[in-house]
Amino acid sequence: MRGALGGPRLLLRRLREVMAEPVSAQDRLDKIVTLIASNMVAEVCSCYVLRADGTLELYATEGLKREAVHLTTMRVGEGLVGLIAQSAEALAISDAQVHPAYAYKPETGEEIYASFLGVPILRGGNTLGVMVVQNRARRQYSDEEIEALQTTAMVTAEMIASGELEALAKPGSSGIAVRRPLMLKGSAIADGVGLGHVVLHEPRVLIKNYVADDVEAEMRRLDVSIETMRSSLNDLIENGTAGQSGEHRDVLETVRMFANDRGWIKRLKEAAATGLTAEAAVERVQSDTRARMLRQTDPYLRERLHDLDELANRLLHQLTGEAFTLATDALPNNAILVARGMGPAALLEYNRANLRGLILEEGGGNSHVAVVAKALGIPCVGDASGITSLVETGDAIIIDGSTGDIHVRPQPDVQTAYAEKARLRAGRLAKYRSLRDKPSVTLDKQTISLQMNAGLLIDLANLDEWGAAGIGLFRTEILFMVAPSMPRASAQEGLYRAVLSSAGERPVTFRTLDIGGDKILPYMRAPDEENPALGWRAIRIGLDRPALLRTQFRALLRAAEGRELRVMIPMIGSVTEIDQARAAFNKEREHLIKHGHSVPKSIKFGVMLEIPSLLFDLDALMSRVDFISIGSNDLMQFLFAVDRENKLVANRFDPLHPAMLRALHRIVETANTYNVQVSVCGEMAGRPIEALALLALGFRHLSMSAASIGPIKAMLLKLDLSAVHSAVMRGLEQNNGASSLRPMLEEFAHTHKVPV
Ligand code: PEP
Ligand code: MG
Repeated sequence: MRGALGGPRLLLRRLREVMAEPVSAQDRLDKIVTLIASNMVAEVCSCYVLRADGTLELYATEGLKREAVHLTTMRVGEGLVGLIAQSAEALAISDAQVHPAYAYKPETGEEIYASFLGVPILRGGNTLGVMVVQNRARRQYSDEEIEALQTTAMVTAEMIASGELEALAKPGSSGIAVRRPLMLKGSAIADGVGLGHVVLHEPRVLIKNYVADDVEAEMRRLDVSIETMRSSLNDLIENGTAGQSGEHRDVLETVRMFANDRGWIKRLKEAAATGLTAEAAVERVQSDTRARMLRQTDPYLRERLHDLDELANRLLHQLTGEAFTLATDALPNNAILVARGMGPAALLEYNRANLRGLILEEGGGNSHVAVVAKALGIPCVGDASGITSLVETGDAIIIDGSTGDIHVRPQPDVQTAYAEKARLRAGRLAKYRSLRDKPSVTLDKQTISLQMNAGLLIDLANLDEWGAAGIGLFRTEILFMVAPSMPRASAQEGLYRAVLSSAGERPVTFRTLDIGGDKILPYMRAPDEENPALGWRAIRIGLDRPALLRTQFRALLRAAEGRELRVMIPMIGSVTEIDQARAAFNKEREHLIKHGHSVPKSIKFGVMLEIPSLLFDLDALMSRVDFISIGSNDLMQFLFAVDRENKLVANRFDPLHPAMLRALHRIVETANTYNVQVSVCGEMAGRPIEALALLALGFRHLSMSAASIGPIKAMLLKLDLSAVHSAVMRGLEQNNGASSLRPMLEEFAHTHKVPV
């Protein structure tokens, strides 16, 4: 055998002709193997395709016995072909039969061939099959030949991925692997079931032409595009536009570092020199890199894979001139948006009517985009590891935002089950909606105020939709988090005014900035802290940076001119902090009055109770405030010393633990003595069983996410409050070492037919 005839360039050109011919998939594959065999002067060329059941099936051959096609199979790891699929690496040997992995398949008649060259068929780093050439004589395959076979394998990968070969699978076999159904688990972020089709937020470039007409011109295109991409990365990083598009600066910095890597550029050029177009060369190099890195066990290296993917994707977009992210008006119907990460502003730009769900590969429940998804009521799953490389645009997909389950290319029975789940949910929602105008009163005629938590203007629509009595917690930091830069006083005033006017007569309780901890403003450098949850956050920042706090107070005071302003201070650890915050507030108010501005008609000044120290200073606290709201999320975190974000411990203690309930009881009793309005605005308030306990303890004001109002109302409409009060008090008195009153409350709900 001579060196590859005319080299890979000629082979590629011939392959392009075959790909364009209007023939059946089997004919095309047959022609491809014949072409490769003759071009590489090999007696055999065979193509094995990976099936969904994990076996490799012979799909086409030139040289082996034809009867073996669609008959011969081997497991991944079995024989030389299985070994290549497993390692995702090329294998060239001059005497195949003495190789320890050699497995004899009599039906193929391959025993007469001594030398063997096999390469994995890779796409996006995933192995889709194996391409093999064999020769009778013992010989060494050159690097150039290995390279040529890898390049042809890449073209075949496209054919496999297109689904064109699906129809050729042996009857009763499991179909080809690349189209197999997948089930993934992410973290549950925003409730709801979404059925639809994958739309990638950063769409992959569809490579239409793999074969260069003019190799030198392709090399030049590659050079120019690398240069332009580098300078646009510099621009994104240096001019701060990174924050705006919601991308993390450090991700971009890593991507930029790789973009300057000489080894990467050299590999791209070598691939283009084989006759691939610049785009195909990028994909080829990235696919090889992925295949290598996916087999890495070092988590740091695996993490870098994302950055390399992003680099390749950026370069491909540069080459084709397509925008890096999807045009927001191009969102098809029933779209499930899949993104590695995404800024909140980007999500808001998509047409909500077409969006059925959102999947984030890297963002969890606290990412800013997740906050927006929740506000918009879009089912959302986060931390979906690997998702962007496992799906293709247009794949059928289902997400369950309440469990974090994702089904890619679901089987019909899965599809039916989820369609039913979505239908039941719609029915439940309709029932809750029908309760909207019913007074929120228990069976024994106690009126309960159900308010909602909000943080964006879009949340306000939920007031009417669910019949909330007001906004019990407006998290102002969310407005800041989704803004491209720190909003000035006038912009803040405009936002607060808009919130108040949407709320109309209903009260709105504005919480001052609760940043720090896990809430980071993209445009504000966060200090490095060992324990951010216990660090410089919320009012601590406000008191240390008075300009920030006073600007916010001024904006609130002006926005609420002529009506009631309710302002609430988060993360108060000591009453002196209340005095300091109140002094700053009064100063602003006096300043406005002095300069002739109109101010609110009345002011209610309150604090969040979320740090346990206040439990031991309740009298001093109550005499200083007009109202308090219990941040049970943080109170629980600090009372039990369990990081609310740490999955290993977050659920270790139940909020219905007697210690927590006694703390809450003490607060509500003292507040009542001082005639201070008290509410609960943490997640507890929105979960039926926990809300049941809160009502039993004496709370009459609850504030929760909009979606919880229906279920909580349904619960309290059927509740005899005095009965549950006695039951809970008895439970707390018994002091029998129980770690939760939950079982008792569940039993109560069951026997009293309270829907929880
Ligand atoms: C809380 O801590 O319970 C609370 C409502 O505040 P956030 O969840 O915003 O910290
Ligand atoms: Mg809190």
